[in-house]
Amino acid sequence: MAFDFAVVGGGLVGASIAWGMAGAGARVAVLDEGDVALRASRGNFALVWVQGKGRGMPAYAHWTVQSAGLWPEFARLLAEQSGLDVRYERPGGLLPALSEAELHESRQHMEALQRDLGPSAYPYEILDHGALARRAPQVGRDVRGAVYCPLDGHVNSLRLLHALHVGLDRHSASYFPGTRVESVERVGGVFRLTSANRVVEAQRVLLAAGHGNVRLAPMVGLSAPVRPTRGHIIVTERTAPFLKDQLFLTIRQTDEGTVMIGASIEEVGFDDRLNLGVLAAMAERAIRIFPQLGRLNAVRSWAALRVMTPDGFPIYQESTSHPGAFIATCHSGVTLAAAHALQLAPMLLAGKLSHSLYSFTAGRFHVPQAA
Ligand SMILES: Cc1cc2nc3c(=O)[nH]c(=O)nc-3n(C[C@H](O)[C@H](O)[C@H](O)COP(=O)(O)OP(=O)(O)OC[C@H]3O[C@@H](n4cnc5c(N)ncnc54)[C@H](O)[C@@H]3O)c2cc1C
Repeated sequence: MAFDFAVVGGGLVGASIAWGMAGAGARVAVLDEGDVALRASRGNFALVWVQGKGRGMPAYAHWTVQSAGLWPEFARLLAEQSGLDVRYERPGGLLPALSEAELHESRQHMEALQRDLGPSAYPYEILDHGALARRAPQVGRDVRGAVYCPLDGHVNSLRLLHALHVGLDRHSASYFPGTRVESVERVGGVFRLTSANRVVEAQRVLLAAGHGNVRLAPMVGLSAPVRPTRGHIIVTERTAPFLKDQLFLTIRQTDEGTVMIGASIEEVGFDDRLNLGVLAAMAERAIRIFPQLGRLNAVRSWAALRVMTPDGFPIYQESTSHPGAFIATCHSGVTLAAAHALQLAPMLLAGKLSHSLYSFTAGRFHVPQAA
């Protein structure tokens, strides 16, 4: 049997799109290499974050705002269908500044974005120390102020991945774990995906394999110029709620009571080992923002690799040489999960990406498609 769609990659991007397609009644196969592969979806900071994103590409700012707007409905549908509450909350996000220069830079950044999108679509406020301290009384004296954006939120992202997979099962999608796709070819009008242990055929194919896309995309005339950027995260022991109704870009209290401190950005290739110097710098900055964090033990830390395009914006594209073969990759797979499930999935099923996504082709990197 040929599936309607074969999705390569069961991380957040592949799983949310496959979930949307299977929910609409399509026969979907998800082929996933598994935990042995590099997986950003298991190591992220779990923000549904709008603030600051899309400078230089208003279409991305729009897409992010749209996804954040869809998140309440998406979380509701996931809970209804999988029985799992992904703990989506939208308290609004705060980007703290530890100097006047940082605050000035953030202000300029947000002004530029608001000029592109308009004040009602891109609301934000600049808070000085006093205004911030009224919202977050525990904030340290070193914090000069913050940008506040009411559109920002967060989730439990591991539960999100779990809920999507439970949902895929309930939608009768076929999930093939431990399946590293080695080749994708078009044979007699269908796509044939071959791995060491199976062959799957489908009318259409979506490459959503994160870093795996680099190798797979040229097989169907596409390109995925993504590279890894390393991010570290620190998790503290559980503590009484002190960040209730507040969310900071680099500090958030989880629904389980731990505090997550994140996330650094380093260009180190495919190296996901911990760098203690980076962890120390992150911890020091976090304690300047919230001095009481200095009294908590760190219980866990890890480094994970983002899937990053040259400009940081997503790639969505259909192949011109292999119609019916699509690629989707992005660096904000938590934030965009709602748009992927509820908007991108129906477009893919209809066999056409909407005009609003045309800016996202890899052609913008002047990478010629293979003939
Ligand atoms: C430190 C850090 C912090 C982050 N914080 C946030 C955040 O706060 N908010 C946010 O929105 N985003 C955040 N992200 C980004 C987010 O995690 C990623 O955008 C998202 O996880 C990407 O999902 P993906 O499915 O594309 O890739 P991955 O999670 O890497 O999944 C790719 C999947 O493809 C499979 N695969 C690869 N090759 C093959 C193959 N040949 N055959 C079959 N399967 C294959 C792998 O097994 C894997 O399961 C963060 C990322 C990091 C690293």
